[in-house]
Amino acid sequence: MKIAQLARKEVQALTPYQSARTLGGQGDIWLNANESPFEHQYNIDGAALNRYSECQPKPLIAAYAKYAGVCPEQVLTSRGADESIDLLIRTFCETGQDRILFCPPTYGMYRISAQINEIAQRIVPLTADWQLNLPEIANNLDTVKLLFVCSPNNPTGNVIPRQDIIALLKMTEGRAVVVIDEAYIDFCPEASMVTLLDNHPNLVILRTLSKAFALAGLRCGFTLAHPDIITLMLKIIAPYPVPVPVEHIACQALSDAGISRMKHQVMQLNSNRAYLQTELESIPGVTVFSGRANYLLVSFPHAQPLFEHLWDNGIILRRTPIENAIRISIGQRDECEKTARSIRQHLAQ
Ligand SMILES: *Cc1c(COP(=O)(O)O)cnc(C)c1O
Repeated sequence: MKIAQLARKEVQALTPYQSARTLGGQGDIWLNANESPFEHQYNIDGAALNRYSECQPKPLIAAYAKYAGVCPEQVLTSRGADESIDLLIRTFCETGQDRILFCPPTYGMYRISAQINEIAQRIVPLTADWQLNLPEIANNLDTVKLLFVCSPNNPTGNVIPRQDIIALLKMTEGRAVVVIDEAYIDFCPEASMVTLLDNHPNLVILRTLSKAFALAGLRCGFTLAHPDIITLMLKIIAPYPVPVPVEHIACQALSDAGISRMKHQVMQLNSNRAYLQTELESIPGVTVFSGRANYLLVSFPHAQPLFEHLWDNGIILRRTPIENAIRISIGQRDECEKTARSIRQHLAQ
């Protein structure tokens, strides 16, 4: 017997998440993982690592609570927002009984975390203009415990209107939890649903330092929710989930200086996005979907040869499940310029 056959059937059958990093590629322009192009130095204190870390370091929780405008009791920190997705599923869903609901095209980890935990999924696609199909969701709520809504949505970039989220929260009140994934909200903070937390105990908001805060490699994310939900999640989180250096670096990023630097970079990236959008829209046959995050979803007459041409030229973009659409992360201005130029050249051939 092969050792792999000892594994759970679901794990044997699982196709793991294809992260931008695992897909490889060689190049000098990396626009495939919605990372920030800005690099920063941090002070790292390597002393006292003989002691375990605090489960939920108070200075870090306090700093994020202040940034998000919530109480510390409403904040949990974890290894990225991805860990929070897994924790939520394990907290709320019973195998063979409960489901999660999500609305593709959207972020791939909701499905994969559910599969890993043997939780069934209900899929209600977004409408043609990538909004929630509320009547269809309402018809599909039986056995659903968790709903995942990504806003701004990855990979389409649009935000979900506040009145739709409120409708969803009312529709699910007392029977299911609505998780709004705000991984990209720092690029359009006015679209956050954070002020709904106080009146809606079934709302959960996911945040991360991986995108606007330029700390994808740190693995630090946050869950904002009613204190009762935070308490439940803390029951099942790993004993020491936040390495001491992660706490120290995250606190520097969340200092007043760190936050104002982030906001400045958000302005630059939003302006680069507007530039790239204008450039690409001027190319015949190209459609750009207006987005509010640090990427654009762009549709081409034939995306695959274009993707490969740029790949071969060291410009690494991300394919999407949407036919002939490619997601382009927003980098430095010169990276946007080179990308637009290569696309224009390829399509002119
Ligand atoms: C990047 C991303 C995440 C994961 O964030 P981490 O904090 O790096 O785990 C979650 N949701 C969406 C929509 C993302 O794009």
